[in-house]
Amino acid sequence: MSLFAKIHGLLLDWYSCQGRTLPWRAKMGQTPNPYHVYLSEVMLQQTTVTTVIPYFNRFIERWPTLFDLAKAPLHDILVAWQGLGYYRRAHHLYQAAQQLAALPEWPGTVSALRQLAGVGEYTAAAVAAIAFQQPVVPVDGNIVRVMARLFGLASPPPLLKHQVQQQAQQFAMLPQPGHFAQALMDLGARVCRPHAPLCNHCPLQSLCQAYTQGTQTLWPTRAPKIPKPHRYGAAFIIMNPRGEILLRRRPNTGLLAGLMEVPGTEWSETPPSLPDFAQSWTVLSPSVRHTFSHFHLHLTLYQGGLSPFPSNQGEFWVKPLDLCDYPMPAVMKKVLAASEPLWYSLNNGENI
Ligand code: SF4
Repeated sequence: MSLFAKIHGLLLDWYSCQGRTLPWRAKMGQTPNPYHVYLSEVMLQQTTVTTVIPYFNRFIERWPTLFDLAKAPLHDILVAWQGLGYYRRAHHLYQAAQQLAALPEWPGTVSALRQLAGVGEYTAAAVAAIAFQQPVVPVDGNIVRVMARLFGLASPPPLLKHQVQQQAQQFAMLPQPGHFAQALMDLGARVCRPHAPLCNHCPLQSLCQAYTQGTQTLWPTRAPKIPKPHRYGAAFIIMNPRGEILLRRRPNTGLLAGLMEVPGTEWSETPPSLPDFAQSWTVLSPSVRHTFSHFHLHLTLYQGGLSPFPSNQGEFWVKPLDLCDYPMPAVMKKVLAASEPLWYSLNNGENI
C-alpha cells in the first residue's frame, strides 16, 4: 500500500468516528446538499465554524432553497449577514444565487463553479469535492499546515503552497474525495492546530515527519507580517428634534458596498481637514478605532446639526429603534455605540 493510501485510510477511519457534526455536512452514506455546502463555504471564507453555525442556520431557515435565496432582495441578505463581516461575500452570494437559479442544474466541476461570483480556487475545489465527489483536494492555510508537517515540507510560502497542492493531488483519485477533504479540514481544526498540535490524538502520528523530528511548531514557516497602514476620517452624528439619526447608503462598489453609514469625510492616510460646515461642531469622545483586513481606521466623531450640513447623498432619517433593520458594518456599529449617550439625552432619557 502506498504512503498516500495509508494516510487516506487512517484519516477516513478517524473521520468516521471523530469528524465534526455540522449543520451543512452530510454524514457518511448521506448525499450532500450542494446549496448547503456552497453556502457554508462562502460563509467560512475568513470566518470560524463557531461563528458561522448560527448564521448558516438562520439563512437556511429563512431561505430553505437556492431559489428562495435567489428571490431575496440584496438588502435582506445584507441585513441577515450583519456581524459576519467581509460583506463582499454577501454581494457575491446574492449574484451567484441569481446565476445558479438561471442554470438547469448545479455546476459540479471546479472550472464551472469558478464561473460563479466570488468563487475562487479553494471554494470551487471544496464544493466540487464535498458536494459532487470530484477528484480534487481543496488547499487552504490549515491544509498547508497539516501537509507541511506530515510530509516535512519546509519551503517558504508561496512555494510551499505549490508543493502542498502537488502532494494533495496524490489523494484526489482515491475514493471518497468529499469525506477526505472534510477529514483534512477537521484534523487541521481540531488536532493539527497551529499552536500546540495534539499529536498524541492524531491518527497520522506514526507517518508524520514533523512528529518524528519533534519540529511540529516550526512548520510551516511563515512570511513576515507586513504592518497595516492607518487611515483617518470624521463621522458626523446628526439628529433631528424627533431623535432620529441621519444615515446614508455607501456606494454599491468598493469597501462596505451598499451598507449604511452616518455621513462623514473620506478615509485618508492623513487626518482630513474638517469641512467648513462642521467647524463649530462638537467633538464626541471617545473616537472610534476599527481594523479592517488591510488598514486600521481612526474616526473622530462630531455632533452636528442638519443646518448647514449639505445633505445631498440620499441621506435619510432612521429612528434609533429601527437601526437593526438596516445593514450596518461593524465600524458603524462602533460609531453608533460611541454616540449612544447623545441619543439617550436627545430622546429625553428614554432608554432606546
Ligand atoms: Fe500534525 Fe502532530 Fe498529526 Fe503530525 S502528528 S499531522 S504534527 S497533529
